[in-house]
Amino acid sequence: MFGAHSPKDRSFKVVIIGAGFGGLAAAIRLKQKGEHDFVVLERADDVGGVWRDNRYPGCACDVQSHLYSYSFAPNASWSYQFSPQPEILDYLRRCAQNFQILERIQFNTTVRNLHWSEEYGEWIVDTAHGEYRGRYVFAGMGALSDPKIPALKGMGDFKGQIFHSAQWPRDVNLGGKAVCVVGTGASAIQFIPQIQPIVSKLYLFQRTAAWVVKRGDFAIAQNARKRFRRFPWLQRWARLSIYVQRELLAFGFRHPRVMRLVQMQAIRHMHASIKDPALRQKLTPRYTMGCKRILVSDDYYPALAQPNVCVVPSGLERITEHGVVGGDGIERKVDVIIFATGFQVQDLPYSHYIYGRGGKSLADVWQGSPRTLTGTMVSGFPSIFLLHGPNTVLGHTSMIYMLETQVEQALRLMGRAEQLGGAIVEASAEAQKRFVTWVDRKLRGTVWASVGCSSWYMDKTGRNASIWPSYTFIYRSRALNIRPVDYEFRQL
Ligand code: NAP
Repeated sequence: MFGAHSPKDRSFKVVIIGAGFGGLAAAIRLKQKGEHDFVVLERADDVGGVWRDNRYPGCACDVQSHLYSYSFAPNASWSYQFSPQPEILDYLRRCAQNFQILERIQFNTTVRNLHWSEEYGEWIVDTAHGEYRGRYVFAGMGALSDPKIPALKGMGDFKGQIFHSAQWPRDVNLGGKAVCVVGTGASAIQFIPQIQPIVSKLYLFQRTAAWVVKRGDFAIAQNARKRFRRFPWLQRWARLSIYVQRELLAFGFRHPRVMRLVQMQAIRHMHASIKDPALRQKLTPRYTMGCKRILVSDDYYPALAQPNVCVVPSGLERITEHGVVGGDGIERKVDVIIFATGFQVQDLPYSHYIYGRGGKSLADVWQGSPRTLTGTMVSGFPSIFLLHGPNTVLGHTSMIYMLETQVEQALRLMGRAEQLGGAIVEASAEAQKRFVTWVDRKLRGTVWASVGCSSWYMDKTGRNASIWPSYTFIYRSRALNIRPVDYEFRQL
């Protein structure tokens, strides 16, 4: 690992921000391409990003691990179809170590802001430990990194413990406690079945009932793992077949009527565990499946059917000294409040501290509605590549596919800029406009535009600025088809 950099050696060709799946992919691929002049700035003391931070009980990936991993670092040893968080974190640590990235990472280094210097043709990256400079920046901060807790009346008065699912305290003991959980998204449904057996009472505040389908997880047998190790093509085949099956879901998202078939399966799944008609009524979603992330769980409904669980079909209105008050006005006494209320996607924190040409921030330029070229580049923000940027979020398959595509796109753009003698690369305003128009058109008629659909995918103006509205192979072909007309290359 680096020691502290002296001010003199803080100039790199490439600065990578974040050591999660995106930042590590960028670092590894740069190295594989023979580029060693880079640094990774990471705010925490470990790699892993969201897979380091989210360690609530039951945390696991809801996409099969053979697909939810790097194509250039297959792991034959995944223990389960949907591997648990500690295993994913271990995988990322191993990747950082095996590809010798650890020594390139400056840990505990929070980036405060980035300014583009047109004079020097480089980014000035201000961190808590001083300034770094880079001709190119890979911004791998991610869209789901900063927890969102609603500002509720009475929050400061509460005498018990409050925390967010992504900041689960290491020493918390929920045994015998009355617990309030706010939210019914992908995080909540994973930890609720884990805590339900040990708490005395669990009040679940559900603002919107979610679609939940069968998970069907299973341990991958030792023999199968051995075969994957011995015949790597077998693992590539497994990965491809998961990929193809998942792309079929994108067809459903684009043709909402198809989703009715899956909705029927989900209703049957609920009826298998929930016998009480009143509870079924509360848990039945009122929007077209796919509008929000489809949840996969075999133990969520059985947990909700237990006598110590009470589903309150409303958001939380306010907090008192010893309890919580929902939409029904009833105060329920609780010892602990867990917010599983998601992340700051609608007002991306990094948009407030990345300043491009002319000194404007992304937030100034976007005005509440992010617009990019392929989610990777933004006109007015030269030589910076957003990873997991706007309109690259997926509801049906692995984000790693998108991240790898973005990294590859950035490497190609850098390569072209280098061929031109170290040029500055920027998305053309026209190309960005065409891309945004294409995305908006593609969203029409999809589940995300269906009646009654609202989700964190929507920006402040009601436009869907998060989701990729098509198949992922279409994304790859658009992102990797570097048309000179879409980018401007300027000499210093
Ligand atoms: P989320 O999907 O944003 O869900 C937040 C939940 O909190 C929703 O049920 C929301 O209700 C509710 N909520 C938000 N504000 C509220 C308020 N003021 N009062 C009451 N309820 C409120 O967050 P998440 O579950 O943490 O998941 C976020 C994303 O992380 C997922 O979509 C997924 O992309 C990723 N994730 C992935 C995995 C995985 O296995 N790969 C696992 C966990 C998370 P409404 O629905 O009414 O807004």
